[in-house]
Amino acid sequence: MAQAAQLPIISHYTAYKPRPFTRDQRADTTILYGGLTWKHERMMQGALHNLKYKAEPLPNINREDLDAGKELIDVGACCPTIFTTGSLVNFLKKEVKDHGKDEVNSKYVFLTAGACGPCRFGQYHESYAMALDGLGLRDFRLFLLAQDELDQGPGNGGGLDINMPMSLGIIWSILCGDLITDLEYMTRPYEVNPGQTELVLRECVEQMYDLFLHRPDKGKKYGTLAWHLMSSYFTRALRDVRKKWDDIEVDHLRVKAKVKITGEFWLQTHEGEGNYNIKRWLESEESEVIPPPVAVWLHYLMHPTIRKLEHRHSTSKHPKAQEFLLHALERIYRGTYNRFRKALANLPHELPDQEELKSLAEPFYHFELRGGEGHMLIGKALHSYHHKTAHMICELSPYSCMPNTMSVGSMANVVGKYPDLLYAPIEVKGDAEVHALSRCQMILTEAKKRAQAEFESVMDKTGLSVERIRKYEAQHPEVRKATYYVPHRGYAGTAANYVMHLAYDKGLARA
Ligand code: SF4
Repeated sequence: MAQAAQLPIISHYTAYKPRPFTRDQRADTTILYGGLTWKHERMMQGALHNLKYKAEPLPNINREDLDAGKELIDVGACCPTIFTTGSLVNFLKKEVKDHGKDEVNSKYVFLTAGACGPCRFGQYHESYAMALDGLGLRDFRLFLLAQDELDQGPGNGGGLDINMPMSLGIIWSILCGDLITDLEYMTRPYEVNPGQTELVLRECVEQMYDLFLHRPDKGKKYGTLAWHLMSSYFTRALRDVRKKWDDIEVDHLRVKAKVKITGEFWLQTHEGEGNYNIKRWLESEESEVIPPPVAVWLHYLMHPTIRKLEHRHSTSKHPKAQEFLLHALERIYRGTYNRFRKALANLPHELPDQEELKSLAEPFYHFELRGGEGHMLIGKALHSYHHKTAHMICELSPYSCMPNTMSVGSMANVVGKYPDLLYAPIEVKGDAEVHALSRCQMILTEAKKRAQAEFESVMDKTGLSVERIRKYEAQHPEVRKATYYVPHRGYAGTAANYVMHLAYDKGLARA
């Protein structure tokens, strides 16, 4: 009889599966998280502390994180994946050095957002798992927070209960973080006393941390949802923020180029070395930055489901009712954002209409092409162009990002049709700062010229002089407060709109 051939032993791939995080471990286990700005993360920490979790954001990302990420994950990864993985890696390395592997495995868990779809965001956790393997920390636990489920329940041991109070706490801290960040960026370039915005900002963020920390317990389901939607708890606190902001004196006659930041989700949100500190750099180059709110992304996430229902591509038994519900949810979401804006004197920008973004982008980029920010990058650039809300678009595009590469390609078509749209696509690799910033500077030079020309044209048109405006300001000091609302009078620049407002709304042109 012929001898049976020796079969090779195959070891099949097994996906990373975290060890359980049990309810009784909660008091001694710290939840790590990151990926947003320090303001969002501090408020989020308040929401998590409120639910009796120990929680700590990872340190802000820096250049060393890029190197640490590159060493451990696949070479084709996009730069946000490398940075964020490297950030976790460097934190864990330090903790292992100080306390040993066993303590790190038992003392921490990492919570990150999860998704599916064509971009690598759906596989971030795989990169993290690969890095954990490389560090010999396969027993370290990382969990995913699905972006489309508010009530995932207590999973894998019950230590982490992703329920309504947690999800709403996180979403509400994101909304408040966005609005305060918007306020910060529209104020700092005009502050009369350097550093005052930063001081007030830090005080306000701490106040908001306390607010989230002391959020009342309204149950785990619809009671808490209703309370978050209807209570004046958050609007009262935001009105306090506005009062503190009142103390900042600004000079809106400074002519600044207004730069709208768009781009890949993480890169555009981040404030630090991960995007060459480009927002602060732009401010140092005489610009006013319009930062991108995370809330726009959350709003965008509602739309694929709405469209599936509209096109009857859903398996739902009651597509009409579900569609109605989603539209209602969308209205409530925008209504909540606007309620918070109102508490801040309507100073922060409104959320753009998703339908408008879709139709603006439609001739250039199909809205069903998902991944990254999808059609929104085209839509946002054109929205800003048509509504004259910025002199220039700075799109932060990560090295090796497929969706962003497609969007930059489509923008060539957009710029061909609208040649006066100032568009600076900046590829960010993490280690080519001079190249990226000098590229941005080329377009910024043109944007600054436009801001200056626009200002001079309104001064001519209104017949006002700087001296005349200064005299008015001395008699009406409220116009120099950072909370003074300067309406949009059809110009991109703040200084031009301010002059038009004083000239025609305040009657200075006739005086
Ligand atoms: S959008 Fe691009 S950079 Fe962002 S996770 Fe997806 S592939 Fe990476």
